[in-house]
Amino acid sequence: MNKVKLPKSLKVGGYTYRVLIDGHITRELLEGSLWGEHSPSKLTLKMDGAAPPQHFHNTAIHELIHAANEVYLPKDSRITENQVQQVSNGLAQILNQLGLQLIP
Ligand SMILES: [Zn+2]
Repeated sequence: MNKVKLPKSLKVGGYTYRVLIDGHITRELLEGSLWGEHSPSKLTLKMDGAAPPQHFHNTAIHELIHAANEVYLPKDSRITENQVQQVSNGLAQILNQLGLQLIP
């Protein structure tokens, strides 16, 4: 498996997102019972770095799909939370099959 560490920042279209994964973020996310969070207004992607590896990979892809949804789709044709979940589950599985795993 090729493990790809998420960078501290990531460009999505013309926007630079900060990728936040440290212990503080993990605690903040756990308080809200979340594995990850995408904030279009703050341009942040938060992920629980202590999540089990498969959860981390799936969550990272889920939050990246949210960012792409926000940046690349016009407001009136964005996909829903459920659709983000479905597309990200599919993409996470396909990338795993290709030997790629996102890690904190
Ligand atoms: Zn979501």
